[in-house]
Amino acid sequence: MKIRHHLLLLLTGAGLVATVALAVFGSGIIARASRESAEARLSFESDLLALQVATLGADPKARHGWVQSVGGKLGLRLTLITEDGRVVADSALRDDSELPSLENHLARPEVIEAGKEGRGRSLRRSTSVGQEFLYLARRLEGAGEVRFLRLALPTRELDRFEPGHLIALVASVLVSLAASTALAYWAVRRLSRPIEAMSRSAELVAAGELGVSVPDHPDEELSRLAFAINRMKGTLVTKLEELDDEHQLVLTMMEGMEEGLLLVGKDHQVLMANAAVRRIFRVHVDPIGHRLGEVVRHPTVIREVDRTIANGESRRETVTGTPGSDKSFDLHLRMVDIPRGGGERGVLVLFIDITRLEALEKVRRQFVADVGHELRTPVTSIKGALETVLEGGLVENSDGRHFLAVAARQADRMAELLSDLTDLSLIETGSIQLDLEAVELAALVEDVLAGLQSRAKDREVQLRAEVALSTLVRADRRRLEQILTNLVDNGIKFNRPGGSVTVRAPTVGPVVHIEVVDTGVGIPPDSLNRVFQRFYRVEKSRSRDAGGTGLGLAIAKHLVRLHEGEIRVESEVGVGSRFTVELLKASPEGPGD
Ligand code: ADP
Repeated sequence: MKIRHHLLLLLTGAGLVATVALAVFGSGIIARASRESAEARLSFESDLLALQVATLGADPKARHGWVQSVGGKLGLRLTLITEDGRVVADSALRDDSELPSLENHLARPEVIEAGKEGRGRSLRRSTSVGQEFLYLARRLEGAGEVRFLRLALPTRELDRFEPGHLIALVASVLVSLAASTALAYWAVRRLSRPIEAMSRSAELVAAGELGVSVPDHPDEELSRLAFAINRMKGTLVTKLEELDDEHQLVLTMMEGMEEGLLLVGKDHQVLMANAAVRRIFRVHVDPIGHRLGEVVRHPTVIREVDRTIANGESRRETVTGTPGSDKSFDLHLRMVDIPRGGGERGVLVLFIDITRLEALEKVRRQFVADVGHELRTPVTSIKGALETVLEGGLVENSDGRHFLAVAARQADRMAELLSDLTDLSLIETGSIQLDLEAVELAALVEDVLAGLQSRAKDREVQLRAEVALSTLVRADRRRLEQILTNLVDNGIKFNRPGGSVTVRAPTVGPVVHIEVVDTGVGIPPDSLNRVFQRFYRVEKSRSRDAGGTGLGLAIAKHLVRLHEGEIRVESEVGVGSRFTVELLKASPEGPGD
């Protein structure tokens, strides 16, 4: 029921009760007033009649006739009473012969009072007539034996409602009821209208229309209510904005994560999946609400989720070969309380991409195997040579020398290999600090060629330098020498008798292009970008025979990179190769920064 109807009913009820009460009490008041006026009338009439009684004389017939006629005209009962209480005339009797049957009236209260005060009144039921009367007695002087004149008016005459009175009363009740109802209706409407408007606005706010404001009202209480609702809305808006911000932050973090994050209920319903999960499993629809099997089509993941649900313990597992890729993931699974899940628990799965780690691990294993392989040959050779010497007791003769020389050469190779490995690992772990300076390239190249001159001569290879004297590069002198030595040495090793190795250094803008050009065997196209890998050799036996470790170019590449430079190779099989190292030009004063 609406508050308006409630109030209306209440106020109308109150109006009705008030009207009825007014009618009841009003009619009582009216009755009392009419009695009082009747008493006054009786008193006045008794005064007039007292004068007449004195003229009546003692004839019973005449007295009876008088009371009958006057009583009938006035609508009263008239009684004449002697001093000793005897009734000598009574208009209520048809005949004066009945007088002796009446009892003595001296004990009547109005008569007693009249005896004392001159006038007496009483409201009571008549024992002789059996009706309620209003009695008024008056003491008489000079009326012979008659001492009291008594007038009696039946009260029903007083209380009787005229139909006109009743209609007027009912009409007034109805009018007052209608007026009070109309007033109540107006008051209720005035009160309920703003309340209804406020509740409508509050409902809109509750439905999410936060732009709506509750209208103000001139009445203090309603104005305070409107203010309170508006303030509540303001607080709500602020809180919602804060929540939204936090939500966005969490969402941004989750969506930006490299790792996949998935929350799944015990019933296998996906409750949350971040962008990484969608990427990993190539899901193009919103996965929320779908079954786990539809989103993550990987048996290991599903099995691990089931196991976590079954024993409730955190787990870790590796999965490989997600759909359409051969990536590997570390799975971390744990039971968590589902937010707003009413105590329900689910499984949170974290996918960490370990593909790169695995690749690195593979490289590491391969490297160890390569190093083992590289060392096995010289160690076997040394062991074989030494055993031959020992078993044959050949130390003194020339064969013995030969074997010891083999052992010494292989030991040198091992030392070289170990030195290259140490260099490589120092560079890779970032333990090498470059000492950059402006290096005069022409002089440095001279030194490098001089150091390799005898090897070149052995192989009948001619070394040439075509570097302008003014060329300065920004480099660590020792490391640049190491790089160039390796490149020129390769040029000699993989050359042919009568061939040449030429070092040039044209400058293009801020960059010096140091070229080592040989006329050697060249490198096949499919090996071109692999020669910088560790232990890669185009022809294994040739390289080993030439005393190579297979690490030289790998070291050179790392060192060039440390200089923030570039190294590249162009080659043609049977024609020769050109290795180019690009380094920044240096100014004469300093390292060129
Ligand atoms: P190493 O020379 O010790 O074998 P490098 O890392 O210096 O190791 O070179 C790797 C491989 O690249 C060599 O084994 C060789 O096959 C090839 N290579 C390097 N430089 C040349 C060159 N100037 N001409 C032809 N092949 C070369």
